[in-house]
Amino acid sequence: MLTPPSRRSFLRFAGLSVVTLPFLTEQQLAYAALPQQNSGTTVMPKPQDAAAAVHRPRTVLPPGAVKIDANENPLGPAPVALAAIASSAVTGGRYDQNGYVSSLTDTFSKQNGIPADHIAVYAGSTEPLNYSIMAFTAPGSPFITADPSYDGPLGTAAAVGAPVIKLPLTPTYGHDARAMVAAAKQTGNGLMYICNPNNPTGTLTPREDILYALENKPKGTVLLVDEAYIHLSSSPSVIDQVVAGKDIIVLRTFSKVYGMAGIRCGFAVARPDLLARLQHFGMNSMPITAAAAANASLLDASLVPARKKIIADTRNQTFAFLTAKGYKFIPSESNCFMIDTGRPGKQVIEAMRAQNVYIGRIWPVWPTSVRITVGTPDEMAKFEAAFQQVMSA
Ligand code: PLP
Repeated sequence: MLTPPSRRSFLRFAGLSVVTLPFLTEQQLAYAALPQQNSGTTVMPKPQDAAAAVHRPRTVLPPGAVKIDANENPLGPAPVALAAIASSAVTGGRYDQNGYVSSLTDTFSKQNGIPADHIAVYAGSTEPLNYSIMAFTAPGSPFITADPSYDGPLGTAAAVGAPVIKLPLTPTYGHDARAMVAAAKQTGNGLMYICNPNNPTGTLTPREDILYALENKPKGTVLLVDEAYIHLSSSPSVIDQVVAGKDIIVLRTFSKVYGMAGIRCGFAVARPDLLARLQHFGMNSMPITAAAAANASLLDASLVPARKKIIADTRNQTFAFLTAKGYKFIPSESNCFMIDTGRPGKQVIEAMRAQNVYIGRIWPVWPTSVRITVGTPDEMAKFEAAFQQVMSA
């Protein structure tokens, strides 16, 4: 059974006052993967090195740099979002006198047929992702994930002392629902994490596999489905399972298709008793500009299909190039994909950086693969030229 919210978990973290809880975003993970600035060395700091990632000043990239290392959206916020930011900012002297967060919740509630009390708005999905780990994992309650999958939560799982069970992807690069359930049954509790589409592969886990995990998990385990990239893919959402009252938390963000990574807005969608477990760790006020921009973006019905097509067209052009040149990559339905370079990925990353092209990091389980974010057509043309040069060296 899921245990009710208690002061126990809070006290657990009170005892951790000397431990940094590293809530890393893609930007911080990308930055942590860069060689140390000004040190003259090429030592890679560990992505989990929260202090390095969070506190060092932001890298200023050289002029003309191609930045395709953090799964950002080069299209940025939509025009309707920018207009909403400008108009809402005028009332920024007060907290939320116009009810921007309520309006955003109501819009999402109506559009998805979800009761408003099943929706919590956060400044991005990083917070509810990490709060889920803090709420549902512990030294005897594992964090069960795929390898490779999004590495942002790993530092938090380590900080709470949870066992991290990393399972290989299936042959079609989905999460292995059966293996996840088997792992969960060993303790009967903890958190299973399914990132769909997956970061870094951009590949899908079939809906029936996610439902298998939900139906067959032990009672005390919670399923966390991260739908950060769902709008870029053909995958159906599993948000209907929240409405059906299941032990599931679904995360959404405005950082990807909506181009608002720096504006910061996201949702945790779950039964109120599960949301209460996250809210136990705090709930800051939202920036009204972010809530207003998110609401305007949701109300623009043309935005998602138009952007999905732009990103897919650019991605498919890049795939055509990689195929024509015989490079090995995993076809993706997202704004990122993996190339197997056949040589140490870190060397490729460094060599690309020397060409002023900043590509994403490696995952230790696949040390010869590098993650590429889909940029603009012009950025991808520069990527192609640099990649050919690097690979022929
Ligand atoms: N989940 C996944 C799979 C991500 O890739 C990211 C960031 O790239 C996040 C969550 C967190 O994003 P944000 O806090 O910007 O919403």
